[in-house]
Amino acid sequence: MRVLRNFFAVETNDIELVRALLTNFNKQIPLLYFVLCTNAALCAVATYREAPRGLTVAVPSVLIGICVLRMLVWLRARRVVLDDRQAVRRLKGVVKLGLGIGVLFLGWYFALFEATQSLGGRMLVLLSIALMTSSCMACLLHLRAASRMLAFTLMCPAAVYMLFDPNLYVVIVGVSMLLVVMAMIVITTITARDFEKMVRLSHENTRLANLDSLTGLPNRRRFFECVETELIARRHDRRPFALGVLDVDGFKSVNDVFGHVTGDQLLVQVGHRMQRVVGDGVMIARLGGDEFGILVLDARDEAALLACGQRICAEINQPITLRDAVVNVSASMGFAVFPVVGDHSELLYERADYALYHAKDKKRGQPVIFSDVHEVEIRQRGRLEQCLRKADLDNELSLHFQPLIDVARGGVPTSFEALARWNSPELGAVSPADFIGVAERSDLIHRITHTLLRRALSAVATWPERIGIAFNLSMRDLVSSDSIATIVQIVRESGVAPGRIEFEITESALMADFNLALQSVQTLRALGTHISLDDFGTGYSSLSHVHRLPLDKIKVDRSFITDIESRATGKDILRTVIDLCQNLNIECVVEGTETAEQIEILKDLGCNMMQGYYFAKPMTIERVEAYLSRGSEIGTALPIVVPSASLDTGSADRSAGAAVTVAASKAAASPA
Ligand code: C2E
Ligand code: MG
Ligand code: MG
Repeated sequence: MRVLRNFFAVETNDIELVRALLTNFNKQIPLLYFVLCTNAALCAVATYREAPRGLTVAVPSVLIGICVLRMLVWLRARRVVLDDRQAVRRLKGVVKLGLGIGVLFLGWYFALFEATQSLGGRMLVLLSIALMTSSCMACLLHLRAASRMLAFTLMCPAAVYMLFDPNLYVVIVGVSMLLVVMAMIVITTITARDFEKMVRLSHENTRLANLDSLTGLPNRRRFFECVETELIARRHDRRPFALGVLDVDGFKSVNDVFGHVTGDQLLVQVGHRMQRVVGDGVMIARLGGDEFGILVLDARDEAALLACGQRICAEINQPITLRDAVVNVSASMGFAVFPVVGDHSELLYERADYALYHAKDKKRGQPVIFSDVHEVEIRQRGRLEQCLRKADLDNELSLHFQPLIDVARGGVPTSFEALARWNSPELGAVSPADFIGVAERSDLIHRITHTLLRRALSAVATWPERIGIAFNLSMRDLVSSDSIATIVQIVRESGVAPGRIEFEITESALMADFNLALQSVQTLRALGTHISLDDFGTGYSSLSHVHRLPLDKIKVDRSFITDIESRATGKDILRTVIDLCQNLNIECVVEGTETAEQIEILKDLGCNMMQGYYFAKPMTIERVEAYLSRGSEIGTALPIVVPSASLDTGSADRSAGAAVTVAASKAAASPA
């Protein structure tokens, strides 16, 4: 009994197959009903003279009416999106309905067959039955259950009925029909099996195409498909949802230090952790590299959204045990909420990415929701970018110079750091901290670097041989072999001894692409110039960079010196870094020294190279000359320059009013 039930069962276990069968069946319906109706109409017309009116007019009219009705229902329902249960019900329904309509037609055909007297008329009815059933089976080729039911409940009884007819011709048609039925059953069984295989294969392909093979999470394509689906579903009621982007801070360093296999393990763990802490209604996907996407379906409550982001970040910020190492990374995250921020996926993603960038910059390891403040920032940046694009760089850009002081030798300057200044006719004085970042997002940065480097080298050519120049390179320069080649050419053409030139690089450049940055560093070193690592301690895995890079100098970021008088930990960190530099035979410079007390502490810690407002603020080229000549007069005394705020436009300078007072009073007390 079970075998029999299985033989006729509609395949409903695999929902993808059910959907594929429905789609396929939907396409056949118009053809199927067209064949049924025309066949019935032709047969009715042909037998009109010999059969009663009821059978040639009334019944076929009702049957054709049923078919037309069915077509109308089909036209209305074909575009409705069904859930899984509805799809299964629909498939079972269409099979049953098809069978019912088939029974009605066949009943009518047999009644007509019996009512028709002439052999020609009877043969025509039989031909119509054969044509109707075989065309129905052809339409139901993929629907194994339906075609089997059609064959066994309609065609076989019809064929057997013919076998008992006294007319030999009718018997022969019955035998042929039986053979056709058998052949059709075999064909539909094979075709349906192949169709099932094909559907499963294509389903598997779709699954794989939507899956990230490393983490097993949905991939970028699937993520944005879901975002689009939500956008369509919410276009009228505008229920808020959030698109989030997460980036693993420090992932590149893990990859660089421990290799790609460990990096991959880290990504898998991050994916697991993210999934572990989010509940229903949140989708996690890997967008590529160390970037993950988060789709929060209910974002009505901003506090709840932030809490969800904090849970994810907190989970990733915990140490992660991998096969070869225990690593500490953090996760920064940006959210953009629909419809507040935008109503298409590109804009939402862009805004979430901006919030992520903001998080990385200002709130590392935490989530940030895109807000009006960011919108204003974007507009300002856009304006800055426009002004920078049309700026006359040769005239609007200039350099200021800040000395690096050797305290051990009585405070003499050993070199000057060249710091960019932009005086825009439209925006006024713009800090390099603002415009360098904007220039870095376009190729403008290379032009700026090359223009300023030429200027810095022509300045240093006029200074005494013992004074060098330190020049800041952008991370974009460091990962561009073209830009590095131009830099090499500029150095060669300048005639300045490469030993007097020092390039300052930051860890962010190394994190962008360590190998490429390393290559650039090696090229510059081969030229004879020196390399120093700027803003040390603000980036990631600094020690691994120190270990793997051929460095001449480390410049400890000024955040380590702020409040050093009151913070014991700051002192301990500085001591460690200074010891490390001594052990590795690398020079150590502490940036941002502003008070005499800080200098005393640094000297006690064994650091002799310093830079900061205490000694001198960044100054114009003319002031450098005055400064140098004064320094040579005072010999071993600290050369202190009273800074002039009007001369300098750097942002850091503006924020250091207190330092100006300290330096000024010191200058007043100086014998010089
Ligand atoms: P940086 O290379 O770390 O430069 C040091 C910054 O600290 C300068 O700010 C300098 O004016 C400021 N500073 C020096 N001593 C003190 C101090 O005692 N206290 C305080 N509060 N600040 C001090 P500036 O000139 O605004 O430059 C900011 C950043 O912009 C630089 O940081 C550098 O990363 C970037 N930059 C400047 N010029 C260039 C350039 O020509 N090319 C590139 N790529 N970046 C540049
Ligand atoms: Mg610097
Ligand atoms: Mg610095």
